[in-house]
Amino acid sequence: MPALIRSFLLFIIVITCSACSSKNNSEKMPQSIPETPDVLALKHLQFLSSERLAGRKVGSKGGQLAQDYIISQLQHYKVRPFSSDYRASFEHHNFFKSIQGSNIVAFTPGTESPSKFIVLSAHFDHLGRQGSKIYHGADDNASGTSALLHYAKQIQQSPLRHSVIFLFTDGEESNLMGARAFIEQNQSLLTAIVLNINLDMIAGTQTTQNLHFISRRLDQILTAKQLKLLARQNNPVEIKSGFHSPRRSERTHIRWELASDHAVFYQHKIPFIYYGVGEHKNHHQTSDSYENINQQFFLAAVATIYQQISFIDQNL
Ligand SMILES: [Zn+2]
Repeated sequence: MPALIRSFLLFIIVITCSACSSKNNSEKMPQSIPETPDVLALKHLQFLSSERLAGRKVGSKGGQLAQDYIISQLQHYKVRPFSSDYRASFEHHNFFKSIQGSNIVAFTPGTESPSKFIVLSAHFDHLGRQGSKIYHGADDNASGTSALLHYAKQIQQSPLRHSVIFLFTDGEESNLMGARAFIEQNQSLLTAIVLNINLDMIAGTQTTQNLHFISRRLDQILTAKQLKLLARQNNPVEIKSGFHSPRRSERTHIRWELASDHAVFYQHKIPFIYYGVGEHKNHHQTSDSYENINQQFFLAAVATIYQQISFIDQNL
């Protein structure tokens, strides 16, 4: 933008701001937009789905950059690693090759029941690139990863009653490798995990309006009355129970309880809730980019899921 036009625009902005609030007249103009939590969650999403990370495929340079970013944010928020290192690496061999990945695992101790754990999970990997085509994976699942970073900051500042493990998984797109590795590496912890809350695709498309969820075994941890209250909460976005199956001609039936990392917790009989928006036109397409998500919906979904987490923590 030419300098003259920029100066003129700045002049207009200053005049407009002065006109809308006389109280602000005596205050200094801020140098930049304040970094509210909302803006930060979107910044995470924008960075993680940027060209630089090239679709964050497990074992790729982009995947490594995503790990570095998540760790740097956790360090910045002073959220401690779950073990000696934030990275929990794993290796998967098949006939053709070996794939290496790393989950990022962080932790905030609970204030009242520190020996009981809620695992909040989201996968950060995606499909990578094919030639010049980048699968950005903005909704799938830079969205859930960004929400999890946001919650890590929030819960570190104001811890929950129960201990919380922030599990950023790698290799979800390759048969849930990261979630399987987490379970294998933490066998002794399994009986202490009371609930998994998994986030995968919570930003949708421009037309997305509803958040969906499925859960299993919640009746083991909450009473019927508490479950009713949880369902009746006044949320920023409407949450619907269950997911639409895509048109039969396009895909076969999806078993949503196995559709993402929560499947591994489910297979180990651990109660779970999975939040997402379900199938849409950009899923696993190059069009799943930052420009095509629904920013307002995403922010409302982040706030809604936090309300649910908070209610459950209070009532467990
Ligand atoms: Zn996903």
